[in-house]
Amino acid sequence: MAIKKLLIANRGEIAVRIIRAARELGIKTVQVHSAADAEMLAVKMADEAVNIGPPHAAKSYLNIEAILKAAKETGADAVHPGYGFLAENAGFADAVEAAGLIFVGPRGDSIRVMGDKVAARVAAEAAGVPVVPGSDGRVDDPEHARHIAMAIGFPIMIKAAAGGGGRGIRIAHDMGEFETLMPQASAEAKAAFGDGGLYIEKVIERARHIEVQILGDGQRAVHCFERECSLQRRRQKVWEEAPSAVLPQAVRDKLCASAVALAEAVNYRGAGTLEYLYDDETHHFYFIEMNTRIQVEHPVTEMITGIDLVREMIRICGGEPLSIRQEDVRINGHAIEVRINAEDPARNFQPAPGTVTALRIPGGPGTRFDTMLYQGYQVPPFYDSLLGKLIVWDGTRSGAIARMARALDELGVEGLPTTKPLHQLLARDASIAKADFHTRWLEPWLEANAHRLNS
Ligand code: ADP
Ligand code: ADP
Ligand code: MG
Repeated sequence: MAIKKLLIANRGEIAVRIIRAARELGIKTVQVHSAADAEMLAVKMADEAVNIGPPHAAKSYLNIEAILKAAKETGADAVHPGYGFLAENAGFADAVEAAGLIFVGPRGDSIRVMGDKVAARVAAEAAGVPVVPGSDGRVDDPEHARHIAMAIGFPIMIKAAAGGGGRGIRIAHDMGEFETLMPQASAEAKAAFGDGGLYIEKVIERARHIEVQILGDGQRAVHCFERECSLQRRRQKVWEEAPSAVLPQAVRDKLCASAVALAEAVNYRGAGTLEYLYDDETHHFYFIEMNTRIQVEHPVTEMITGIDLVREMIRICGGEPLSIRQEDVRINGHAIEVRINAEDPARNFQPAPGTVTALRIPGGPGTRFDTMLYQGYQVPPFYDSLLGKLIVWDGTRSGAIARMARALDELGVEGLPTTKPLHQLLARDASIAKADFHTRWLEPWLEANAHRLNS
């Protein structure tokens, strides 16, 4: 292993997850943190910690210079970006390598192609992977935009080329709306992502979100099957499972093969996810984007395959060839993850940071809780509201759902509201038991069930 000391350029539960993998590999860890995060769990767990700046992410977790300085001062030889923040910033990957360090992720050039949602669509088409009908490239010129909109038909999704985290997406139902939304969307994308570039896609109605996990070493890639993340609120994932309950084996084979083909076509290195929309009536799937990093919901794949994805990505980026053979990756049982956020479901999921006065972590068979929480921890108000992920495994999907309901009842986070009550209802819902849902199922369900979340 070429890596001796790994700097973690992230925070929260994913920083904890990366430290665990590094420790098992015998790698020392350096945790960088903002002034607001001095008491976070990863700081306590890491071998060393460095304060890299004020709470505002632009001055700390997005501050490339400060992160590289911390690496230099501590003698770290590699950087793991986690997810969010700089994880899909090609300039950061380049800067890490230019400083003589290993970036635990793909090369900057791969991020430039696959991390840009328009360039990724082009690469997918070139590799023979179906994409959602839409614009061939960015749509800058209003006249050209109107032409494409007419050709694909309404409703139309306007998406930011640099978007992510469910942000930067608008739906236009007719030409009038389209013409109003385009300039607004561009201005917002410019403000949020530093890039006002837009593209447009046909809205796939009643689609399911199915994504394929891959691992590549720059030459060869393998897939670790799919996850289904159709339960979303504001296009953000709420509940994720592996495998999908509805994918016929023949479609699974085609879908996973398409992901491997695309990953190999771009000489992908590290862990990555290809996201698709799937129509369970026609069995058609359409590539939507690639996340060139570890994803929040990676544990469900770990639970059904037995592969430690974070360990594998560190090994590969440390220079070891991919050791996994495709025929050795098998699906065993069913896993579900729910996101426990510091949000109040009774108040329209308003973020509600606070202090954890008591904590009871569920245990027992097939139960895993990846979290940044400990008793007495003060959740800072500056960042993402994710506190932890409850993950369960069982031999069958119905067994996993029962286990999720049981583990949620055991989970106790006192002192601040969390999304646990929502998940308790979902784990006992008849449609969820039948896997009868799609990406726009949860939002109307939330409206209809608001009274049950208000108690
Ligand atoms: P996943 O597919 O792993 O669930 P998400 O899209 O939910 O990934 O994003 C994971 C994290 O990264 C979230 O905290 C999200 O806010 C953040 N994130 C993703 N893309 C971006 C982006 N382009 N800009 C800012 N934050 C992002
Ligand atoms: P992000 O980068 O924010 O994750 P994605 O392109 O992955 O954006 O889309 C996020 C979610 O938005 C998808 O999981 C899906 O629910 C919805 N979505 C995206 N594109 C379409 C589309 N063309 N038709 C219908 N729903 C879509
Ligand atoms: Mg996405």
